[in-house]
Amino acid sequence: MDENLKKTSEQQEGMLSKYALVLTSIKGIGVKTFSYLIPDELKEKIKIGQPVFVPFGKTRYINAYVVGFSNYLEEGIKAKYISKILDTTPVFDMNYLKFLEWTADYYFCSIQNVLECAVPIKFLNEQKTELTQKFAEFVSFEGATKRQKEVLEKLESKGKVNLSEFVKEAKTTVLTMKKLEESGCIKITEEKLYRNPLEIFKNTQLQEFPKLMPEQESAYKEIEKRLGSHSCILLHGITSSGKTEVYFKAIKKVLEQGKNVLFLAPEIALASVLTQRLAKRFGTEKTAIWHSSISEGEKFDVWQKIKNNEIRILAGARSAVFAPLKNIGLIIIDEEHESAYKQTMPSPRYDARTVAQKLAELNGCPLVSGSATPDINTYYYAKNSGNLLELKKRYNDYPMAKVHVIDMREERFKANNGIFSQALVKAIENNLKDKKQTIILMNRRGFSTYTQCLACGEVLQCPNCAIPLIFHSQTQTLRCHYCEHEEPMPETCPHCGSETLKNCGTGVQKVEIIAQKLFPEAKIVRLDSDALARKNLHIDILNEFSKGETDILIGTQMLAKGLDNPNVTLVGVINADNSFNLPDFRSSERGFQLLTQVAGRAGRGNNPGDVYFQTYNPEFFALETAKEQNYDNFYKTEIQSREEFDYPPFSKIIRIILSSKNQFRAERSAQEITLRLNDIVNKMQLAEPIAVLGPSACVIEKLQERYRFQILIKNKLGEKGHRLIHSFLSKIKLPDDIKITVDVDPLDIL
Ligand code: ADP
Ligand code: ZN
Ligand code: ZN
Repeated sequence: MDENLKKTSEQQEGMLSKYALVLTSIKGIGVKTFSYLIPDELKEKIKIGQPVFVPFGKTRYINAYVVGFSNYLEEGIKAKYISKILDTTPVFDMNYLKFLEWTADYYFCSIQNVLECAVPIKFLNEQKTELTQKFAEFVSFEGATKRQKEVLEKLESKGKVNLSEFVKEAKTTVLTMKKLEESGCIKITEEKLYRNPLEIFKNTQLQEFPKLMPEQESAYKEIEKRLGSHSCILLHGITSSGKTEVYFKAIKKVLEQGKNVLFLAPEIALASVLTQRLAKRFGTEKTAIWHSSISEGEKFDVWQKIKNNEIRILAGARSAVFAPLKNIGLIIIDEEHESAYKQTMPSPRYDARTVAQKLAELNGCPLVSGSATPDINTYYYAKNSGNLLELKKRYNDYPMAKVHVIDMREERFKANNGIFSQALVKAIENNLKDKKQTIILMNRRGFSTYTQCLACGEVLQCPNCAIPLIFHSQTQTLRCHYCEHEEPMPETCPHCGSETLKNCGTGVQKVEIIAQKLFPEAKIVRLDSDALARKNLHIDILNEFSKGETDILIGTQMLAKGLDNPNVTLVGVINADNSFNLPDFRSSERGFQLLTQVAGRAGRGNNPGDVYFQTYNPEFFALETAKEQNYDNFYKTEIQSREEFDYPPFSKIIRIILSSKNQFRAERSAQEITLRLNDIVNKMQLAEPIAVLGPSACVIEKLQERYRFQILIKNKLGEKGHRLIHSFLSKIKLPDDIKITVDVDPLDIL
């Protein structure tokens, strides 16, 4: 924690202070704070959150934000004067800074770290109000060298492209492109960025609010009762039960009360769909979207509009939780079970759900989380605090899909390559005949799951990580899914030289190829993160599917979310056991959620749907309850095992990873820290409520050339335990070669 920034909380008014602490971002240095003298004529005007203009170095001036005041400077520092206040209306206030401070504390990281992900860097650097983007177009091959021609060929096939995106994609340089422009081979143009993504809805008539069904209405009433004070409500409603309409009515109420709404969705694509729905209902002017991929120009605009209180509903993915929206009367988290709410890399490893809970608490407003398959923790807390609301009926009483469990042990020898059971093939054939659409889930990226030499048994591994490399058929390469390593598929075994390498196991690419062979007439499209070379491709693929242009959509878990398509009547899960088999205490929950969600994609309209789960373990409780789509039964079993083993919600987990290129040193330092932690805990007689487990080698033992050992702390002491561990960790000094990573409330422990 930055001591300078800590002081900010103590002194809020600038009037009498001599110095202002300002926050800025310097290229190559990152986000930092500096002290500046406040000129007398600004003393009465200057406030927290104002953008200011300050001299930096010998010749430069930069933009910065006021984040605190003081009357002292550390010895040896000479401060310069602030030049001017750029805008008298503050962009954020003290409470906002306190909120970021809390986040930094909770996740054991620096406040700079949090600021970096909260504040748009461009906003710090410059006060540009208009941003432009460069585009490139092919003109001619004349005068190009052989190497340049390769680039030109790529460009010609693509038409007009975004220059910087193309440079990355074609693995060329901006300089090469400039040269090509000079020799007349290409044309480069500069265009103003399209800044309001909702512009298209501007003049459309606002949609009316439907009358809620009785179940929806009573859920709404419960939320309405809780407006104006803090609570954490869970809206547990099966897919298509009309949760969104309940949120919308609550939003309407909050807006009438003069307050603002923050609405989080787990992913950018879902946030975009949601924002469109909001804009159509509440108007373009009041609504904005926020996520990591909107342009810096859009972010700039949104911040300006938030500042002027023009934005009343902000929708977005997890980072939107850090937008400086004020006067919040309601926070909504849709699909709250999604792990995408947690940022795993880089630090801060925050969970937007936890942070949003704090934000709601600070604003004294309810947090409404919604899901068909809630996180076990959320459900547990909501149930025990009387804040559980349920929607048990689908809107219009559309029937739930019928789930068939196929025991693959029996199918093994008759099935096609052990991938498609006969029952599933038959069902797909019928569906194609009826001109209905099908979704196939295979939750593994790549073509196969490992590559093995049949002569010597060697499994090809990533040179940086102790993980099998995965074969990708399109590029004919082996890739590591944990680091960026990629190499051509070798023809002979690197170990023994035999030509007997085999790609074993099944990945989604193999399923696609086999499906195309089985159903040659069908239009099949694959949706996984490897297919997403282009920025909005995901949305395009889903749009095409929605329009009925695709017969079969095959993909990883990406397609389990948000698809609402009445023409989908069949869902096949190739290997339902996949997600249950991870060595992680959440694997049953993850698997249950995935299967239930994907089953919910079938039969969303009048058409009853059919779902096939192919499995080798049909009796497993999470599979059985997913078959019945019975969350309550799943919860009852799962919560017992959590209690038995002291896993969340019965404890909070802090995971500490120590890594080094030297295996022995990594293990040693992990042992040392474990010893010291145990020492403290024992001395304070807290060994029962704070259990220190480990150290043990991580499941992924080696990652990016570093050996990894982990310590798990199960904390049953709440905040007090958290603080104790925090203060212990903040005092630790480690040799340079040892890296420590702390993950608070980790979503997996692999
Ligand atoms: P969920 O968010 O629970 O999956 P939605 O709110 O998206 O469900 O509702 C599913 C569908 O039913 C949507 O097309 C929605 O417009 C419609 N719907 C929900 N509630 C009503 C209602 N009270 N009146 C009319 N249509 C409704
Ligand atoms: Zn071999
Ligand atoms: Zn790797």
